[in-house]
Amino acid sequence: MTVQAMPQIKGRAIRPGDPRYEEARALWNGAIIKRPALIVQCADEADAAAALAYARRAGRSVAVRGGGHNVAGTSLVEDGVVIDFSQLHSVAVEPERRRARVEPGALWGEVDAATQAHGLAMPAGIVTHTGVAGLTLGGGFGWLSRRWGLTCDHLISARLLLADGSRVVARADDHPDLFWAIRGGGGNFGIVTQFEFALHALGTTVLAGPLLHDAARAGAVLRFYRDFIAEAPDELAVFVALRRAPALTWVPEHLRGTPVAMVIPCWSGDLDRGERVLEPLRRFGPPLLDLVQRQPYTAHQRMFDAGVPHGWGYYWKSHFLPPLSDDAIAVLVAHAWRPSSPASYTLLFHLGGAIARVPRAESAYAGRDAVHAINISAVWPEGGPDHPDINWARAFFQALQPHATGGVYVNFLGSEGEERVRAAYGPHYDRLAAVKARYDPANVFRTNQNIRPRGAVVREG
Ligand SMILES: Cc1cc2nc3c(=O)[nH]c(=O)nc-3n(C[C@H](O)[C@H](O)[C@H](O)COP(=O)(O)OP(=O)(O)OC[C@H]3O[C@@H](n4cnc5c(N)ncnc54)[C@H](O)[C@@H]3O)c2cc1C
Repeated sequence: MTVQAMPQIKGRAIRPGDPRYEEARALWNGAIIKRPALIVQCADEADAAAALAYARRAGRSVAVRGGGHNVAGTSLVEDGVVIDFSQLHSVAVEPERRRARVEPGALWGEVDAATQAHGLAMPAGIVTHTGVAGLTLGGGFGWLSRRWGLTCDHLISARLLLADGSRVVARADDHPDLFWAIRGGGGNFGIVTQFEFALHALGTTVLAGPLLHDAARAGAVLRFYRDFIAEAPDELAVFVALRRAPALTWVPEHLRGTPVAMVIPCWSGDLDRGERVLEPLRRFGPPLLDLVQRQPYTAHQRMFDAGVPHGWGYYWKSHFLPPLSDDAIAVLVAHAWRPSSPASYTLLFHLGGAIARVPRAESAYAGRDAVHAINISAVWPEGGPDHPDINWARAFFQALQPHATGGVYVNFLGSEGEERVRAAYGPHYDRLAAVKARYDPANVFRTNQNIRPRGAVVREG
């Protein structure tokens, strides 16, 4: 490959051999090892444009990095150019208009802090060190999504740098095809340099926290859970973690390492009503430990942070699920506590509510009918590419397949091949491929869960 001159930029251009290189290429997932030829830590949009133009001239593949959390490591590319937004992470809130402008390197903790300063919020991911960009472009759901919808449902506009170097704004009345595609179609269509979101008045307190049950009672707990959430109001999301109790500050020492079913409600509405709604859930069992309490939303948002730190090894398998049948519960109970690593876990997200009420054709996100997303997560603190729990995750995933919808959340996909990518975009794939052909016919943005441009000759690599 000929060495082309990279134009002067305001940010940092980091190559192999640079003392900053190892840190710059590190991702959240310590199982991913890729060595880009150049990492451009952008100081502004012009830097991103210069890096993109350079990569195209030099014939290098391009990856775009927001928070660097994608489990498949799509924000790095071997021997290519990484357009890295980690230095561009400001969040500007307009409280009167209930709007936030967010730079593409922002993390959810930064958005939560800026919006909660005004009692405002938007549906976010449930780990605060996750990036806004990748999560939003794939859909995005968390504790507030049953009440208010997906993160991408809150997108008002996005500024984009397109593959040909042009700059556009996508919103409902400007490039509507592009605006449709980036709400669920991931980073396939361009580089987002600014997001504008709508916010809600949440207040600052939620009624939330984990209920820990002995794993030996998991079947009964999950059946009760299934029936309880069938009638849940939108203000309530109840997630379930099946794992050994982690060694985190909020877990009492005598329970750490114990196999538990962790039922985690988050009530975001009127707190007195929430106490009444949650009462049967808290009574059932009773649990070994009830840590449900009125607490700052920002504190609840951080509850999982320390359990999934940067640099550990992670391998995920995921399904969208309908309401849990007894057979599905039997599979969960049979597999969830088999991993050898105490850090491995299974997390059941509770969806539906406002997510499901948005018309299917409104955006590219394809999972609105799912009641759950399940994330079977092999986790090994020592990092590196391999661990025996990967086989556990695969076997568990296979066993659950007959009970799943056939779809999968694009942001939980690993490197799993074309069929799974198509499953993630579901019925929207062909329309996405047509939009892709219009905005990125040469498939410049292919380091992602890739949509092939319809009718175009595609370069591989
Ligand atoms: C610990 C953890 C918890 C999570 N919890 C949730 C959750 O609660 N809810 C949920 O919905 N998801 C969740 N996720 C999944 C998350 O949505 C994805 O990992 C997502 O890719 C993270 O975005 P990022 O910006 O950090 O990723 P990155 O790895 O930086 O980017 C991923 C991809 O997004 C695209 N991209 C990034 N930035 C841009 C940009 N500026 N312009 C265009 N394309 C871009 C690129 O294709 C890139 O390859 C979680 C992930 C982790 C690791």
